[in-house]
Amino acid sequence: MEDKRPLSLKEAPPTRPPRVLIVEDEQALGLLLTYNLESEGYVVERVERGDEAEVHIAEGAFDLVILDWMLPGVSGLEICRRLRARDDTRNLPIIMLTARGEEAERIRGLSVGADDYVVKPFSVPELMARVRSLLRRAKPERIAERLRAGDIDLDRETRRVRRAGRDIHLGPTEFRLLEFLLEKPGRVFSRAQLLDFVWGTAAEIDERTVDVHVGRLRKALVRGRERDPIRTVRGAGYSFDETFGRA
Ligand code: CA
Repeated sequence: MEDKRPLSLKEAPPTRPPRVLIVEDEQALGLLLTYNLESEGYVVERVERGDEAEVHIAEGAFDLVILDWMLPGVSGLEICRRLRARDDTRNLPIIMLTARGEEAERIRGLSVGADDYVVKPFSVPELMARVRSLLRRAKPERIAERLRAGDIDLDRETRRVRRAGRDIHLGPTEFRLLEFLLEKPGRVFSRAQLLDFVWGTAAEIDERTVDVHVGRLRKALVRGRERDPIRTVRGAGYSFDETFGRA
C-alpha cells in the first residue's frame, strides 16, 4: 500500500514517538510503568530478564531505558556498564531503579553511567517527569533542527533537504526514511524495523515497499557520479553510510 498522507510543507513534521524499554522483573511494576508511559504517547517494550535486555537494546533503537538494578540473568548495574562501553549505546539515556537507597549504592549506579537514579518505592508521576526531562536533555539529535552528513543537509524545521547546495525534493516517506537513517549513521535497520519506525507499527505493508522507497530516496539524492550515502547490507537491511562525507 502507498503512503497516502498528503505532502505539505506547512504540515507539522511527523515526529516519531520516543521508544522506551523497561527492564523490570517485578511484573506489577512493569505493567504500571508500561501503562503510564503508553498513555503519554511513548512506544514501550518490556522485558524481565537482564540478558534479554541486551538483545532488545541491540535491535530496538530505543530512546531511553528504565533499568532495574536487581534482575535475573544479568544485573542492571552490569548492563549499564556494558551499554556505556559500546559506541552505539554510549549516550543512551538510562534511568536506574533500585530498592537500595544507600548513598554508596546511588554513587555506584551513577559511576557506571546511569543518567538518573530512582529509589523504590517512587511516585509514578515523578518518574514520568524524569523520563521527559532526560529525553529533552539527553537526545540532542531528536530536537536538533538540522541533520548533516557530508554534503547532505536535512532541515526538520523547513522540511528541506539539500545536497551540495541543491534542493532535493522528497516525498513524505522518503523524507522520514532519510531523517531516521541520518539520526543513527552506521546503524543497520532491517526492513521490518524500518516499517515499524518510519511507517508506524500499525502499518500493514509489504517489506518490499521499503526497497521501493529506498530506491526513490537514492534516485533523488544521487546525481551523476555522486556517492550513494545509503548502504544496502545483504540479508540485513539498510543503513546510512557512516563513512559518508569523511572519505
Ligand atoms: Ca528486580
